[in-house]
Amino acid sequence: MGRKQERYRVNEERTYNGTPCWEWLLAISKYGYGIDYINGNNVRAHIASWERVNGKVPENHDLDHLCRNRRCINPDHLEPVTRAVNIQRGNGAKLNAETVREIRQRYADGNITLKQLEDEYGVSDSAIGSMIRGKSWTNITQEAAA
Ligand SMILES: [Zn+2]
Repeated sequence: MGRKQERYRVNEERTYNGTPCWEWLLAISKYGYGIDYINGNNVRAHIASWERVNGKVPENHDLDHLCRNRRCINPDHLEPVTRAVNIQRGNGAKLNAETVREIRQRYADGNITLKQLEDEYGVSDSAIGSMIRGKSWTNITQEAAA
């Protein structure tokens, strides 16, 4: 019966809007997000933390890290934004027009799930979903059609 392990540490040197980041100390995903384990499921720690305070993230929204610190779980540093806004803010910065076309093509070809695309390209499956349905990166469709 050891001491309960610390789940996060308050980092006074990294702040947003005058409050410190709470940096996750347990598992971190390869994209830098904290991973919590709740009721037998791996969940993103920042989402679980925000939802404990605020209730469910609204449908079709992602939580944006206002502090740009992915391992931070301070609910005050997280804001639910629509997926389109989240991508515009640069959270899809790994993506460019070529990658978006490639993702759409591979998904259209079948044999790959949104989850697999998420893992491969390092963006959320919701972001990939909206890209495939043409709700984000709409300029790419127009370019391709021109
Ligand atoms: Zn933070």
